[in-house]
Order: sequence, then C-alpha cells, then structure tokens
Amino acid sequence: LLTEIKPFLTTTQVALRIRPLNEDEILMGATQIAHKVQAKMVVLMDPMEDPEDVLRANRSREKKYVFDYTFDGAASQENVFKTTSQFLIPNVISGYNATVFAYGATGAGKTYTMLGTDDEPGIMARALNDLFLEMDKTSDDMAYKVTMSYLEIYNEMIRDLLNPSAGILDLREDAKGGVQVAGLSEVTARSTNEVMKMLLKGNKERTQEPTAANKTSSRSHAVLQVMIKQQNKVRNTQQEVRMGKLFMIDLAGSERAANTHNRGKRMVEGAHINRSLLALGNCINALTDQKGSKYVNYRDSKLTRLLKDALGGNCKTVMIAHISPASIHFEESRNTLVYADRAKHI
Ligand code: ADP
Ligand code: MG
Repeated sequence: LLTEIKPFLTTTQVALRIRPLNEDEILMGATQIAHKVQAKMVVLMDPMEDPEDVLRANRSREKKYVFDYTFDGAASQENVFKTTSQFLIPNVISGYNATVFAYGATGAGKTYTMLGTDDEPGIMARALNDLFLEMDKTSDDMAYKVTMSYLEIYNEMIRDLLNPSAGILDLREDAKGGVQVAGLSEVTARSTNEVMKMLLKGNKERTQEPTAANKTSSRSHAVLQVMIKQQNKVRNTQQEVRMGKLFMIDLAGSERAANTHNRGKRMVEGAHINRSLLALGNCINALTDQKGSKYVNYRDSKLTRLLKDALGGNCKTVMIAHISPASIHFEESRNTLVYADRAKHI
C-alpha cells in the first residue's frame, strides 16, 4: 500500500529564500555570492579560490536558477507567508490537504521562516491565525474543530514534542490506508498566541546537538500537523463532515554528513537525514511528473510514510528552500539549489 500510482496530479510550488548576510560571516571575510536578480531568479557565483586555476576559470562561474518565487534578505515574514502559503488556507478549510516544507542547510533560515520569533512570527503561527479568521467568517453556517500535533522525526524515530515523556511513537496504517501516529497528543488551539507559545516550547524539545559545523544544528524534522474538521450546521442539508490537513515542516539540516567531519553517532544521523530528504525529493518528483508514469514510493522513510495522505491525492505542496548568501557556504547553497530545482514541475 505504500507504493502507489498517483491518483491525481500534485501541485508543487518551489520558492527560495536567501537570508541576509550575518555578522559572523562578515567577520570571517565572506562576500555575498547569491543574488536575487529578478522576481523569480537567483544567481549563484562560484567563489573560485585560486584565480590561476585554469580549468575552473574556463567553466562559467555563475549559475542561474529560477523558482516560482525568490526572496532576498529584505523580504518580510508577512511577505513570505502571503506569497507562498496563504492560498492554502481556503483549500484546507474545504477539506483538502496541503504541506509546506522548509528545506536547507543548518543556519540557512528554516526555523526563522516556519516558527520565527514572538515579534516576527513565521508561517506556522500566521497560517493558524488565518485559519481562525477564515473560520470566524463562516461560523454561522459551519461548525469547525481544529486540532494540532507537533512531532519530531529523529533517526527514523518519532517523538511527541508536546509530550516528550511519551517516548518513541509508532507509525500505523489504518484499514482505510490512512496513516496515524499511535499515542500522539492532539491539542485544541484557540488563539494565535496560544499556538506560538506551544510551538516555541515544543521546539525546545527538538533534538539539537552540537556538530562540527554548527552548535545548534537540528538533526530532526519538526512536523506541525493541523487538522480541520468541518460540518454544516444547517438542518436538512447533508451532514457531510469534511477533514482537511495542513502539514508545516521544518526539515533537518540538509548538509551532507561528509561535510561536517562527523564520526559515529553524527554519521548515523547524517545518513538518516540524507535518506529521508532523498525519499522526499523522489516522492515530490514522481508526484509532479507530468508524464504520469512514475511510481511514488513512500516506503523509504518515516517522513514520507507520515505524509502519504498529504503528498498524494488532490493536494498542494509548497517547498521553501533556504540559503545563506555567503561565499563560505557556497557548496551547501549549490546543493540546496540543485535539490530545489529538481522538486519543480518537470
Ligand atoms: P536553520 O533553522 O535553517 O538552522 P535559523 O532559522 O535558525 O536556521 O537561522 C539562523 C540564524 O539566522 C538565526 O539567528 C535567525 O534568526 C537568523 N535568520 C534566518 N533567516 C533570517 C532572515 N530572513 N532575516 C533575519 N534573520 C534571519
Ligand atoms: Mg532550525
């Protein structure tokens, strides 16, 4: 059941966000090598180390990539939300599924985009705020129930970020082929404030361990799952219940295990992360293939198994790839751009 021919075409949008150059990078003498040159286009320059290297000099030092949207350091949180994710809200309320991913290396800005800060909330809180507002507009006719769960996938193990003491949770498939995390807590949220508090607290529970590359590198995928149940209040109409799900995911850092001089435990984490990000890329790639002949293999990772309902079927997917503009992160940025480019419609 976990390998299926897709029933409908998935719509995938891919955006790129380039964060501002930071103080550390400037102190290290880094220059800006990623530039937004048009609404959708970024140019990445290869910061060639040795100008005498004839072989490298002969290759083009600039590479262009085009996405559905490109944001640079000047883009606000509101702008990023409105452009990439706001359109999903009415879909989810009408009972469709949608997913927003933040992809990129550690330090590239994923958590800033998804979670943000109290003053500059990210997509998670803004999407929920919009959901609450939209539901208020139609609450005379409709009854809604919104519940949410927040979990992490670390080394292919699922943990409840809202109830960490529950330990490792199992992924199960029910009789209808739906995927459930057994024992995962579901909370009812009432306000954006409440949501933000809960998410900030949950985020502190994420597995974040020091690596050679970065002290607070996140080695886990954080998955916020919002479920909206909708029922018509008016009598004599069909008592149809609609269920929509919105997944918002802060993926683990995409840097290669090989790049961070990791050994032992860190190398195992790296392998798990690479494998699940590869599985995700393969699923998105197969789902968006217009020729329609590819098999979608969800089986390869917990992440893709969990997202089976949300990725396949008549649903919408948004990927926001993140890069630093600094020359010292050239390799990571290039890898991210290549991955994001591959997730685009074929
Ligand atoms: P990641 O989650 O990808 O590891 P973070 O979101 O934690 O990266 O970002 C790393 C640092 O850069 C944080 O201090 C964050 O506040 C800052 N940052 C990231 N993106 C932006 C942005 N667009 N504008 C301003 N600061 C940012
Ligand atoms: Mg992070």
